[in-house]
Amino acid sequence: MVSNAIEMKAWLLNNPAPVSRNPLTIAEVPIPVPREDELLIKISACGICRTDLHVVEGELPVRRSPLIPGHQIVGTITTCGSQVEGFSEGDRVGVAWLNRTCGICNFCQSGRENLCEQASFTGWTTDGGYAEYVVAPSTFAYLIPNGFDDIQAAPLLCAGIIGYRCLRLTGINEWKGARLGIYGFGAAGHIAIQLARARGAEVFVCTRDRERHQALAEELGATWVGDTFDEPPSTLDAAIIFAPAGEIVPVALKAVGKGGTVVLGGIHMSPIPSFDYSLIYGERTVRSVANNTRADGREFLLEAASIPVRTHTQTFQFHQANEALNALKSDSIRGAGVLKASYPNRRD
Ligand SMILES: [Zn+2]
Ligand SMILES: [Zn+2]
Repeated sequence: MVSNAIEMKAWLLNNPAPVSRNPLTIAEVPIPVPREDELLIKISACGICRTDLHVVEGELPVRRSPLIPGHQIVGTITTCGSQVEGFSEGDRVGVAWLNRTCGICNFCQSGRENLCEQASFTGWTTDGGYAEYVVAPSTFAYLIPNGFDDIQAAPLLCAGIIGYRCLRLTGINEWKGARLGIYGFGAAGHIAIQLARARGAEVFVCTRDRERHQALAEELGATWVGDTFDEPPSTLDAAIIFAPAGEIVPVALKAVGKGGTVVLGGIHMSPIPSFDYSLIYGERTVRSVANNTRADGREFLLEAASIPVRTHTQTFQFHQANEALNALKSDSIRGAGVLKASYPNRRD
């Protein structure tokens, strides 16, 4: 389908501010032009992530201004740059947080491109998906497996991929019968539990909000569900903390057994209180997860399609971007929030 549009609607962040002040403003901006290694993608959906909150509210430093946020993008390729290989116009693709890496540093050369010092990030250092179009390097785009519609697929691209990497970094190798704790049960938690259950683990979920998060955890097969600071009835082999609250770290350490790992899944967390050495003694480990590699993304999408993972989504219309962020901030989204791209008055 040919579009003669040269401008698109996009949500811009000019100055970080609390989301209660609705800091995003809608604007008409030029449709970006893809460089030779990039794709131009017409967006159909973009997932809302807690990291968007950290960007919009200024907990992450400003790296580009004005900025179009959003890094769980699903859309259709409308133009391929001249050097693009392996993609065609019309392909349905996803764009995730890791936008581009240098490819030559020690991290990039050793399978740890997620730690690249020169990396750029979608919706933070480059424009993201709260818009009608986006450009992205083809080598960092993912083909979306059939079986997921656009809305369903959007939360896979960060919540899903980061959850997958968190599961990997728990160090659990034998999943059958393993006992995993999940602290905080939003978009990432509700996908991670589906992977862990499919692999044969028992999952213990600690989260606030009886009606939404605890109920969804039960529905998705949690062995036990409690409040954030409740002690699970069994000793855990590992735990993942998705909530950005540092005070959960000692609580989770207390719940894991000797040799167990507590994985911190967020990009930002409030300060971790000091705790007694006995909580980490016994070769317990605390480690963070930073971004993801492309291998994580590809492996996760394959596993998600094979199970298949079913994302629970709450859809927001394009004009509701600020409302969506406020809903996420107040923990009132069940599963994952997704912003729909809309094309008012466009004949394409
Ligand atoms: Zn690098
Ligand atoms: Zn994210």
